[in-house]
Amino acid sequence: TAAAVEELTTPPVQVNFTKLLINGQFVDSASGKTFPTLDPRTEEVIANVAEGDAEDINRAVAAARKAFDEGPWPKMSAYERSKIMLKFADLVEKHNDELAALETWDNGKPYLQAAQAEVPSFVRLFRYYAGWADKIHGLTIPADGPHHVQTLHEPIGVAGQIIPWNFPLLMFAWKVGPALACGNTIVLKTAEQTPLTALYVANLFHEAGLPPGVLNIVSGFGPTAGAALASHMDVDKLAFTGSTETGKTVLELAAKSNLKPVTLELGGKSPFIICEDADIDHAVELAHFALFFNQGQCCCAGSRTYVHERVYDEFIEKAKARAMRRVVGDPFKKGVEQGPQIDSEQFQKILRYIRSGRDSSATLECGGDRFGSKGYFIQPTVFSNVKEDMLIAQDEIFGPVQCVFKFKDIGEVIKRANNTRYGLAAGVFTKNIDTANTLTRGLRAGTVWVNCYDVFDAGIPFGGYKMSGMGREKGIYSLSNYLQVKAVVTPLKNP
Ligand code: ADP
Repeated sequence: TAAAVEELTTPPVQVNFTKLLINGQFVDSASGKTFPTLDPRTEEVIANVAEGDAEDINRAVAAARKAFDEGPWPKMSAYERSKIMLKFADLVEKHNDELAALETWDNGKPYLQAAQAEVPSFVRLFRYYAGWADKIHGLTIPADGPHHVQTLHEPIGVAGQIIPWNFPLLMFAWKVGPALACGNTIVLKTAEQTPLTALYVANLFHEAGLPPGVLNIVSGFGPTAGAALASHMDVDKLAFTGSTETGKTVLELAAKSNLKPVTLELGGKSPFIICEDADIDHAVELAHFALFFNQGQCCCAGSRTYVHERVYDEFIEKAKARAMRRVVGDPFKKGVEQGPQIDSEQFQKILRYIRSGRDSSATLECGGDRFGSKGYFIQPTVFSNVKEDMLIAQDEIFGPVQCVFKFKDIGEVIKRANNTRYGLAAGVFTKNIDTANTLTRGLRAGTVWVNCYDVFDAGIPFGGYKMSGMGREKGIYSLSNYLQVKAVVTPLKNP
């Protein structure tokens, strides 16, 4: 409740970096244009940021190309690269609270979530990838003929990376970490809603000794800057996180230009399955977290809650009570669990889905409207009696709207859970090991969390089946996205 919310003392934070980062310099855009980035709590302008477009992408790619072809980064010893990445992680750790405040200001997520989980996780990811830098190597292969055969694992070249706004710092780490560990250079296009923290950390990276041109950052919009990067002839690899619709566009742009390999991390409609033997209070809390975390703005949100018919009524009653207790408000205040949605477009879209749910035969248990009269806040909303043919059951809502379905048996729920174009993640809640094994093997999803949700260690691979994407990020699997394999064959004896 509002009374339980105390003022949190946030560190003073200033916006010092608003320009594009090209070849180690903060520069204006070629057009001189800027765009505002807004505070989603108040809808007021935080800062005007240089707006990059195709011309700036050309400049950034040229800088990355030069840094790749002429070095020193790809040719530097892997240990030297690793040391720069570790020093960067130390600097970010020192600026933890300022960075968390900037992230909350630009994105609207609860400050403590940014300060206690996301910035520390960013640091952890860079230490993890720094550890990989000097452990990447090829094989020696026995050949049929009198030949010495070996593989070299080489960096792929200039990586183009396009990231979304829901976890601006973490998406930076998931993309930049493996690319740099493998010795690539980068042009990163941040999301237009959240350009600030990437520029802040990039400055720290240069302080840590990153050579100019290795990491270039272009703030700007998708159809201009993003499309120019995806279709650039001199970009060797593209990594994208965002909506499935835009994923199709960038894949097409990559194919039509130079066939650069593409990794995609896209949307989801992930099932969270609560079996009859589950501890209901725990299941309610976890299902609530799986959906409402980060204002519901997670590609892997547990957005289809399947509950066994024997525990369904109890679940609904408790899930509704939990949602009604969720504290919505200023994300800088202690005790607040849910801040505003990112922008007006998402806010309106979520309200349209809620209207569609109300117009269907689903039951609105609580919420269903905006929260307050200023900012993009939405009431925690729960729909029960949701059926698969409803729009709210099929589309990714990307907001604080929990949809609960009833099921009878395991075979049936596997079929229903898989009956979606997505396959990013799934949650399974049971004490029965046989049920857990049947579900984990039956579900077609890139991650299955059993009796937990949203566990994201640096080493765990993440990615989607079906239209949730291609390729895996994090962990050992992410390295191959940024490496070329060269086979080198040498006769053992010259004729
Ligand atoms: P959302 O709808 O959640 O904003 P998007 O997929 O549109 O998701 O955005 C994710 C990222 O993709 C952002 O950085 C955005 O600017 C970028 N983007 C959007 N449209 C395009 C496009 N046509 N080409 C390349 N990038 C794009």
